[in-house]
Amino acid sequence: MYLDKDIVKEGTASLNEKCERVRLPLSQNDLEVAKNLFQYLVISENEEMCTKYGIRPGVGIAAPQVGQNIRMFAMNATDFLDEKQTKYTFLVINPEIIWKSQEMTYLPGGEGCLSVTRPTEGLVTPRHLKIIAKCSLLDMGTLKIKTVKLTLFGYPAIVFQHEYDHLDGILYTSKMFKIKDLDQNIQPLYTINEDENEEEE
Ligand code: ZN
Repeated sequence: MYLDKDIVKEGTASLNEKCERVRLPLSQNDLEVAKNLFQYLVISENEEMCTKYGIRPGVGIAAPQVGQNIRMFAMNATDFLDEKQTKYTFLVINPEIIWKSQEMTYLPGGEGCLSVTRPTEGLVTPRHLKIIAKCSLLDMGTLKIKTVKLTLFGYPAIVFQHEYDHLDGILYTSKMFKIKDLDQNIQPLYTINEDENEEEE
């Protein structure tokens, strides 16, 4: 399993390199990488386990973040804006974004990344509101691979684009803006209600 010490941090050259396509069927090494990436996100959901193993929780992790420069990532994002709280849990291989909306959005609180340890508060990263991606998905139960077209909107689309960027050697920190410097047409994915936050704390 991967621990925080295994996560390649910002400033390491390999994080800025374009990753190689994954050869299919998966090699034993690549299958192990996939399992460990997936496991990291599963453990992420359990606060006790995170403390026990000293890992930072995340909703996505890409192979280059563990020193494997191949086009593979895992995501486990709950669409918290969806009434049904739908979960988007995938082990993604060789993704290709084949369509993206012109409409852009951003997470008002900014993004975060397991590879970035410095604070980036007050800075946001514009993303396409909706995307369609062609990719191979590895079923973590049967270990079978199927090629699909995923249509993602909102939060899961943002997570997917963040991870996809890792495969091209791009960190969100290279795409950050102050909200006041953004194109005025770009609206946040949701608005943060300051009063509500105070009540919750
Ligand atoms: Zn990241």
